[in-house]
Amino acid sequence: MNFNDFSLDERIMRGVQAAGYETPTPIQQQAIPIVTAGSDVLGLAQTGTGKTAAFLLPILQRLTTGPLRKTRALIIAPTRELAEQIHESAQQLGKFTKIRSMTAYGGVGKGPQIAGLKRGTEIVVACPGRLLDLIGDRHVNLKNLDVLVLDEADQMCDMGFLPDIRRILRHVPAERQTLFFSATMPDDIRNLSSDMLTNPQTVQIGMIAPAETVTQAWYPVPQKKKKDLLFTFLDATATGQVLVFTRTKYRARNLARDLERRKFRAIALQGNMSQNQRQKAIVGFKQGKFDILIATDIASRGIDVSGVTHVINFDMPSTVDAYTHRIGRTGRAEQTGEAYTFANEEDADMVRDIEKLLERKLERRRLAEFDYGDFDPDTAFPERQQQQRRKAKSKNSRNANQRNGQKRPHNSGGQNNGQRRRKPKAKADANGTAKPNNRPNRNGGSNNPPRNADGNKPADGTRRSRRKPGRRAIVGKA
Ligand code: AMP
Repeated sequence: MNFNDFSLDERIMRGVQAAGYETPTPIQQQAIPIVTAGSDVLGLAQTGTGKTAAFLLPILQRLTTGPLRKTRALIIAPTRELAEQIHESAQQLGKFTKIRSMTAYGGVGKGPQIAGLKRGTEIVVACPGRLLDLIGDRHVNLKNLDVLVLDEADQMCDMGFLPDIRRILRHVPAERQTLFFSATMPDDIRNLSSDMLTNPQTVQIGMIAPAETVTQAWYPVPQKKKKDLLFTFLDATATGQVLVFTRTKYRARNLARDLERRKFRAIALQGNMSQNQRQKAIVGFKQGKFDILIATDIASRGIDVSGVTHVINFDMPSTVDAYTHRIGRTGRAEQTGEAYTFANEEDADMVRDIEKLLERKLERRRLAEFDYGDFDPDTAFPERQQQQRRKAKSKNSRNANQRNGQKRPHNSGGQNNGQRRRKPKAKADANGTAKPNNRPNRNGGSNNPPRNADGNKPADGTRRSRRKPGRRAIVGKA
């Protein structure tokens, strides 16, 4: 199949050629005919599959006829970065048409967005909060809407946007085409999709499995040696653009600073940066001014840089979905990529969860050039499941012995002589107040609050930025 089979307008075909797309990706092959025919679509597609063009091309086709300068396609995305990304694709693919696209999201001034809406734009790519603001102030008129797209619905749900989406739905015409994309289908997303879609056709591509073109492995490493491992890795490996993920904004900022000190061309991308700084970081990375981008999960949504050769999970992602999204930043559109995860002892369970997702073992690696000291990455962190299995086995054999009439051996140590062992009490301090003990809790973690690699309490994982970034122009011809 090739793009000629979709009978797209000649101006759109020129856009496809200018973008360098030669053959449609599997999701494009499936979705474009269905969307063109006017059906609602439930798209279960992983990131990096060409999903954006799969919905944009038929939308552009539809907009080539009918009234101009009315909002006829509304695309809702969870993050500004993803909104920018979709807008850029609309501009690129529609560059030989008269169709306009604009973005609307918070963190930047409303003025240019209001001006863009007044001038008239066919495609609006918006984040839910700002869109509701603009609807509330009557700057957006959705009466002429033909197509509504909800992109990365599961991420919207994670970010708490579902009530906003339901509010937005009150303002769109009932008579419309709806395209609903999500990488996963938890219950509330399924409910939302059935409320929004009418007789949808389902398009499913490699559901939540990471792209097959990405080589994946994990590097066992003690927490305190992670930074040195990263520096050695970067010195020893031929890389193109490298995307490094950290758990918190604070860790992203610190790591970027340490890399810069070592003369790497690195920059952070995290939620405490203003929109302008974030945009500068992404554009700088895309254009090759920086080789290494250190990002947190939320900030990374929608980063589409074709030359990302390596994704490094400096910190383990908290869910397997986050893992999929992170590594989907490399190996995009059938290119190859490498995704490596640094894991310490506490991450062993997540390694198992990732292996369940992949349905195979994740390759364990050691970096030959790195001095691990006493630590042996080949044998470190025996799988907890194995430990559990071993425990279960020994319990079973004890039970079997009992069933066979063999008494459980008494505690023969002498000191305890048949008495039940008591849990040691928590020690009291001088005032008689019980102190929490520092033994690992049942989950293998400490009872004290978690600390980061530098031994500090994570300062920023949950704080929200209140900074007001500057304005930027947002309207462009698609
Ligand atoms: P997406 O999954 O929409 O984020 O797309 C991932 C990347 O694939 C983007 O860089 C697109 O520009 C690129 N892409 C989309 N469709 C094609 C295609 N048919 N051929 C080559 N690259 C594509």
